[in-house]
Amino acid sequence: MLLTLIRRYSKPYLPQILAVIVFQLASTIATLYLPSLNAKIIDEGVSVGDTDYIWRTGALMLAVAFGQVITAVAGVYFGSRVAMSMGRDLRRDVFRKVSSFSAKDVNSFGAPTLITRGTNDVQQVQMLMLMGLNFMVSTPIMCVGGIIMALQEDLSLSWLVWVSVPVLVAVVGYLVVRLMPLFRSMQKKIDAINGVLREQIIGIRVVRAFVREPYEVKRFGAANKELTDVSVKIGNLFVLMFPAIGMILHLSTAAVLWFGGERVDSGDMEVGALTAFLQYLLQILIAVMMGTFMAMMIPRASVCADRIGEVLDVEPSIHDPQAPVTPVEKKGRVEFRDVTFKYPGAEEPVLSNISFSAEPGQTLAIIGSTGSGKTTLVSLLPRLYDVASGDVLLDGVPVTELDRDEITSRVATVPQKPYLFSGTIEHNLRFGKTHATDEELWDALETAQARDFVEEKSAGLDRRIAQGGTNVSGGQRQRLCIARALVSQPKVYLFDDSFSALDVATDARLRRALKDKTKDATVIIVAQRVSTIADADQILVLDNGRIVDRGTHEELLETSPTYQEIVESQLSAEEVA
Ligand code: ADP
Repeated sequence: MLLTLIRRYSKPYLPQILAVIVFQLASTIATLYLPSLNAKIIDEGVSVGDTDYIWRTGALMLAVAFGQVITAVAGVYFGSRVAMSMGRDLRRDVFRKVSSFSAKDVNSFGAPTLITRGTNDVQQVQMLMLMGLNFMVSTPIMCVGGIIMALQEDLSLSWLVWVSVPVLVAVVGYLVVRLMPLFRSMQKKIDAINGVLREQIIGIRVVRAFVREPYEVKRFGAANKELTDVSVKIGNLFVLMFPAIGMILHLSTAAVLWFGGERVDSGDMEVGALTAFLQYLLQILIAVMMGTFMAMMIPRASVCADRIGEVLDVEPSIHDPQAPVTPVEKKGRVEFRDVTFKYPGAEEPVLSNISFSAEPGQTLAIIGSTGSGKTTLVSLLPRLYDVASGDVLLDGVPVTELDRDEITSRVATVPQKPYLFSGTIEHNLRFGKTHATDEELWDALETAQARDFVEEKSAGLDRRIAQGGTNVSGGQRQRLCIARALVSQPKVYLFDDSFSALDVATDARLRRALKDKTKDATVIIVAQRVSTIADADQILVLDNGRIVDRGTHEELLETSPTYQEIVESQLSAEEVA
């Protein structure tokens, strides 16, 4: 997968990559050329006192060094740009893919891992591409070129190369092999810390309420200690790594000077050749070291690439039809025909044989105990899930044959868990209709009984909303979500238990105001409180995924035992209160 990803994402940047290769080639050749020039100055200039030669070769050396710097900088500059661009493209594609996922696809991965895959995993692959582009070309050339050049300077010292390189590979390789599993385990420990922290932050109220802090502190402490242990082990190996590399480099230097010195003494080798040989050996060793470091990154990046590939390869289970149908009329008529639905992996259907229709201008209410399938039912219309059998129709056309825009422009959902995005109130309200006037926004707020608390603060519509809407109360969040739906002026309103966080009086006022605003639209209300739905045109009583009774409030009071039960339970609760 790693190769496939690299191949796919490098394609648009081939010219730049070619430039990087050329620059690196030039800079590597210049680097390899410098020590031999140095040797020439010493052996053919200094030793015979030829000042002219020294000046000429010195000037050449300066030019080569200058060229080396320029090409190296250019290579790193373009290499980094390309690597970062490839990472950006990859991240963008992961994001787009995840955005196209249906609720089912997201569930099958889980949100946290999708986040890690889109950020950390992409980062790892990006790092490898960065290292690859910066060192892939220069490292092997430096190794091979360095060896050739070193041998040219002096053949009889070549055994020093054949000894020091394998020793370095062995030492660095051994440490890398020991480090790899530790790195992998460190990722897992970081995941564990994130998990505990995330749960604690989200559940902070419950933790406080049940005085679970000591337990949670212990749990975090354990996860923290595990991470520390692994980090310390990694640290211990790193402590060895640099002195070991340093020792090999210094021992090699000493050996070259020792054995080379003898040869210089006996007149078999010149001083310049000796310094050049030494520089080549160091260049080779550094290149080998970089190569080993890079090799170390490959397995980790490869795991990450696989994880990214899994996301990119998903064919979204819900996609737009090939040939979308445009309905003749766009009034917002909703019809369910014998709908059965099962969650992926579940054995029993959550909804069975659901049939009903809701007309524009009417209010349809759905009531039933927790877990009876109400939320599931309303999520079928905006195609969060597709039905197993039967049909969900909007204006007479099955939703599976409609373009998704066609659905979202006409259906507005106020979800059970009201969610607001970070930004201002205004920004949130304009979600369904970007060009709504301020008047429309205030009007929607007024209907949603949210005008007062928006006006209360001087910032008004510009008041900041935190991610998820956590800086306003639950009831305020619900009302803002209702206002957001109102602004988009849809043909169909889906209120999924959207009045539960409101007190009875506000609930009543809101529904009265809504009635007027939604008189041409189809309104579907999921509710817990009987009082919320008593004046609906039609009430469906849901039990265990089936419609057990239907009718108006009065009719159901007469005929439906389940409905009577619900009414009685709430009456007694209110009486008690
Ligand atoms: P209600 O809104 O009436 O409380 P839901 O529609 O939320 O009921 O849930 C109906 C049933 O479907 C429940 O038994 C629940 O366990 C199951 N269910 C809900 N969401 C999922 C899901 N994402 N995956 C699997 N089962 C689910």
